[in-house]
Amino acid sequence: MRSFVFPQLGKDPLGQGVVKLPSLGQVKFRQSRPYPEGYQVKQARIVKRASGFYLMLTFQAALEICAPPVRGHIVGGDVGLEYFLSTSDGLQIERPKFFVDMQCKLKLLQRRLKRKKLGSSNWVKSHKQIALLHERIANTRKDFHFKVAHQLCDAGDVIAVEQLNLIGLSRGMLGKHMLDAGHGQFLNQILPWVCFKRDKAYVQVDARGTSQECPACEHVVKKKLADRWHDCPNCGASMPRDVASAVVIGQRAVGRTVQQNTCGDGLAGIAA
Ligand SMILES: [Zn+2]
Repeated sequence: MRSFVFPQLGKDPLGQGVVKLPSLGQVKFRQSRPYPEGYQVKQARIVKRASGFYLMLTFQAALEICAPPVRGHIVGGDVGLEYFLSTSDGLQIERPKFFVDMQCKLKLLQRRLKRKKLGSSNWVKSHKQIALLHERIANTRKDFHFKVAHQLCDAGDVIAVEQLNLIGLSRGMLGKHMLDAGHGQFLNQILPWVCFKRDKAYVQVDARGTSQECPACEHVVKKKLADRWHDCPNCGASMPRDVASAVVIGQRAVGRTVQQNTCGDGLAGIAA
């Protein structure tokens, strides 16, 4: 088991750095932030990670939150492999280099593990190192995603991205669509969450054909994967390919309504 939930807590379960859990009693923990005021704690989840045990608390308040209207400056965003994200304003955010370094280190550790005798204490140590690095990579990625999401929210009032169908993608589609779970985490969890917090409208659009359409004149410009530049023979528009599709994504968001923000378990996990 990686985690388990206490769906109900007793009366006044929280103290400074201490929580009262059913059948476990008082448990001390390092409190990373103050409890939000005016909220009621609803449930507690204990998560086991390589670096230790974590306590995730879910709070509830009786608040009516209106979805922000789809108006103001629309920023379209397109995720890809060459650049992590390109926006309709022409901003292109590169994939951070430190991931490559960390992946190299991971490979090294995995090679070392192979030379250890299965089940020996050195094998256990090596295993632990790998698990810790995996966790650090995940944390670093999450941190990067949050920063990009805030950058997007700084740039506009409406954030439009493509609806990413990860199941469809993993089945033999090529190129740009060799996106990984990281892109899914960004588009489907972290970005909507940050938009929610920042009171920005978050819109998902059907992105089929966005990379082939000219943002200036809607002319279909067939591009192969290797074609990284959009040059329209019809109207002469010229820009990086990903920026062109980000503009089209932004255009498709016009007149759309905001999806309901689903702040389910997935988001709770991210907020922790
Ligand atoms: Zn054109």
